Amino acid sequence: MLTQIKGLHHVTSMAANAQVNSDFFTKTLGLRRVKKTVNFDAPDVYHLYYGDEVGTPGSVMTYFPFPHIAPGRPGTGEVGETYFAIPKGSIDFWKGRLDTLGVKDINETEVFGEKRLRFSGPDKDGFSLVEVDSDKRDGWLHDDIGAAEAIKGFHGASMRLQDDGAMRELLGFMGYEKVDQKAEWTRFAIPGGNGADFIDLESLPQANAARQGAGSVHHIAFAVEDRAAQLEVRKALMDTGYQVTPVIDRDYFWAIYFRTPGGVLFEIATNEPGFDRDEDTAHLGEALKLPSRYEPHRSQIEETLSPIND
Ligand code: ZN
Repeated sequence: MLTQIKGLHHVTSMAANAQVNSDFFTKTLGLRRVKKTVNFDAPDVYHLYYGDEVGTPGSVMTYFPFPHIAPGRPGTGEVGETYFAIPKGSIDFWKGRLDTLGVKDINETEVFGEKRLRFSGPDKDGFSLVEVDSDKRDGWLHDDIGAAEAIKGFHGASMRLQDDGAMRELLGFMGYEKVDQKAEWTRFAIPGGNGADFIDLESLPQANAARQGAGSVHHIAFAVEDRAAQLEVRKALMDTGYQVTPVIDRDYFWAIYFRTPGGVLFEIATNEPGFDRDEDTAHLGEALKLPSRYEPHRSQIEETLSPIND
């Protein structure tokens, strides 16, 4: 069993419109845009990162806005909902705020003993704000969102699976422990995690497979401290029979990817070097940052991307 994984690192989804996406995460949810760059594999598309002040691993929601992408169709083999942690007692604030700002599908519920406010993102992305009592992480403060309300980072995520057997086994191998079970839901937690500690599996044997599109999660990334830990995880996964990519430099972290049996794409990402490696903390996410291989094409890339107003 692995001990290097410390919870989630980031969650990456697809959106239809960069401006709408940026406004939703920075203005409605009050996260900080910590990086404005491009998809390293397709530089005509933005890659936008939102999180806490410095984009601490476990707080980072990222998006590829593809201007002409069709809406996704929810189903199995994908991340269903991404959970953000909010302070105890703040759910009424958020309910009022999201309602006032026209957010869709707001629904207050209680799952695994936690108060949860479910809602949809601009592309029907599935989200929840979950009240968490003992979360010591500092959220990013916004004009009208104070420390008593601010999102602290991820709480976890759920996955919809036709057959969750292989995923249970994989999560166990990755160091997760089963901590609860309710009907078709099974909750896993990572001991000693970064706060983004929970994975809930929803077993849906009769459901159809998802079709990825706007609002779908593209992949979910798990955090390891450094490159040495990442290489240990990579070797262990490959020894177990997983096809894992080589280590890829994503400028702000190193990444490896592998497809899980249920269809969900997993990434293992390093906490090093972080989002402040090429920008001052005070100005994170303001300028368009490009990986060095695309710098020679900056003017062409800037012409292709529509500007985002803050
Ligand atoms: Zn990623």
